[in-house]
Amino acid sequence: MGRLSRESWFEIRHSLDSGCGESQPFFSNPGCSKPLLHPTLYAYYSPYENILGGLLTTVPMTSEGQLIERVHRKLPSRAGGLRVGIGDDACVIRSRQPAEWVLTTDAFLENVHFLLPLHPPEAVGYKALARATSDLAAMGARPLYFLLSLALPEACTKKWLDDFLDGMSRAARKFGLVLAGGDTTKYPLVAINITVIGEAAPGRAVLRSGARPGDFLCISGRLGAAELGLRLMLRKLHHQKEWKKLLQKHFYPEPRLALGQWLAKNGRATAMIDTSDGLSTDLAHICEASGVGARVWSERLPKVAVPRELRNLGLDPLRLALDGGEDYELLFTVPPRLALRLPRTILGVPVTTIGEITLKKRILLIDDAGRAEPLPAQGWDPFRKRPIRKRK
Ligand SMILES: [Mg+2]
Repeated sequence: MGRLSRESWFEIRHSLDSGCGESQPFFSNPGCSKPLLHPTLYAYYSPYENILGGLLTTVPMTSEGQLIERVHRKLPSRAGGLRVGIGDDACVIRSRQPAEWVLTTDAFLENVHFLLPLHPPEAVGYKALARATSDLAAMGARPLYFLLSLALPEACTKKWLDDFLDGMSRAARKFGLVLAGGDTTKYPLVAINITVIGEAAPGRAVLRSGARPGDFLCISGRLGAAELGLRLMLRKLHHQKEWKKLLQKHFYPEPRLALGQWLAKNGRATAMIDTSDGLSTDLAHICEASGVGARVWSERLPKVAVPRELRNLGLDPLRLALDGGEDYELLFTVPPRLALRLPRTILGVPVTTIGEITLKKRILLIDDAGRAEPLPAQGWDPFRKRPIRKRK
């Protein structure tokens, strides 16, 4: 498979067997007759199609009751505030005054966000929950419960499902989440939708809209690692021993829950978002919501370390850091008077100041020599119609 061109990714619409219509709500996409494939996954769709066709004809059926029982066993519905969990028409949660509820939902779809032949089922289960939970981290909220809607082909109702649930169960324990309910159904592709419910102290949830001119712009962890892993996997390079570990962040992202809650509790962040789509795109979300601009200092960016052999393949750390998606780090703004006292590591997570918020509503990248150039949002956007501009 040849090298994937970012410009071509965003032009691709591919025919899936299932099409896209009212009877398939997971893929309903107003204005387009076919679902839009995640560009990075497009190049691998054709070989995948044949594998799926083979699997569909060889695996026996499972009843929905059996399937729910297996989900229940792996993800028990028990917690203090949960009065009724799995097994009734709806769950019942005791309200926990005086906290505020924080809710979010996230779709994780085969052929759009992951590929059955390449992504281990354990990673699919883990990541489906991690992605959704990261949005609570970005609000500074504490996760409590989640609802799982799971659509599966029959081929995935045996071992694949067990492994998937193992991954999801590991993530649930790690993030402190309890499954409160959900729904299962049969579908030609794997479609996962997760709603996560959390809580925050009244008025403490951190919004995207609070950034003010003069605030410093900070990022947790390192940028570009998840995208690097994805590119390696798509090039089938991840089986090489020395690069296997570079897949870790793509498969098992780490929502920055403790950091998000610390920032919210201590009132340090004026605005916050998780970097799910890529720094350039997520920063644009903060700037738009806050009515401000920003300057990002490229030399300050904590970029993923790319081995020299991979740099020679065109994997540039700066581009990975600016536009690579799915790092699930926290991008937040801090008022100048608090920025100086912000620790460089918070609860074990490195925090780096990478820029500043400006009154002028432009987003600029400042290079090592102090030159400024526009920083267009070039991260992941499933509805982008125009091919994106090549960065110099
Ligand atoms: Mg988010």
